Amino acid sequence: MGTVFNIQHFSVNDGRGIRTVVFLKGCPLRCAWCANPESQKRSPEMGWTKGECIGCGECRKKLEALSCCFKDDRLYWNRSASFDPDRVRKVCPSGAFHVIGKEMTADEVLDEVLKDRAFYETSGGGITLSGGEPLMQPDFACEILQKAAAAGIHRTIETCGYASGENYERVVSLVDELIADVKLMDPDKHKVWTGRSNEPIIDNLRRAREAYPDLPINVRTPVIPGVNDTEEEIAEILEFTKEIGADYELLRYHRLGEPKYESLNRSYPMGDRELPAETFRKLQGLLQLEN
Ligand code: SF4
Ligand code: SF4
Repeated sequence: MGTVFNIQHFSVNDGRGIRTVVFLKGCPLRCAWCANPESQKRSPEMGWTKGECIGCGECRKKLEALSCCFKDDRLYWNRSASFDPDRVRKVCPSGAFHVIGKEMTADEVLDEVLKDRAFYETSGGGITLSGGEPLMQPDFACEILQKAAAAGIHRTIETCGYASGENYERVVSLVDELIADVKLMDPDKHKVWTGRSNEPIIDNLRRAREAYPDLPINVRTPVIPGVNDTEEEIAEILEFTKEIGADYELLRYHRLGEPKYESLNRSYPMGDRELPAETFRKLQGLLQLEN
């Protein structure tokens, strides 16, 4: 069994062709700009959607262990308390208070993925394992990928790369395409903004290239205001991508994840930062100069 927090059909942004993206729960990093904060905790957790709450108070009365209470029109609860997901589902009549993360077997995941097989055949797509960080569940990730390989499906992984060399190697040996985040080259700065050094990430990528010289590797950098939005930072990563023979892509910072923090009872760590369109255009120009 593994923990999945979403399965997205018909994605065209997570590898070649039309893809089914399986999001595994858990991430070793804590990027301040994370747009999927619900992915970070390894175990299932609770979320609350204000717009769906009918104010019946059942959660407060019946889920004592979670110590639910309303304040300023918002639901608060004890995020570290354990809970029974089935009980929560029965208690909240509208589904506003909901469980994020579902225990599934690799066969159940594959059954869902194979529903899209016809689209893979016409578009060259397949399955993409994403997260969170799929390498947080290495056995589960390997089992899904092995089953997908046996079914003849193209396999991609999207990873932050923070994992033991052994687990990285096991999972990468089973994919046809690797999409890897490199957010910063400076290990200390990386630690400040994500909670961990980038050394294992860089080492794993170098080793993957050595072991699989023909593997398509696509490095992505989310451009974050005040973190890595300078020509120096991006040029340094660009140099690294050339060293390992990877394609390189910049992703523009957005605030789409902000409401999710409220839904998880957390505050948004990026405050009111924005990335000007002009800054992003200038940085993209660096990549075009290379082509
Ligand atoms: S690596 Fe991705 S999922 Fe993990 S914290 Fe950073 S942005 Fe979020
Ligand atoms: S049980 Fe659900 S709908 Fe009722 S108050 Fe709690 S969150 Fe709102």
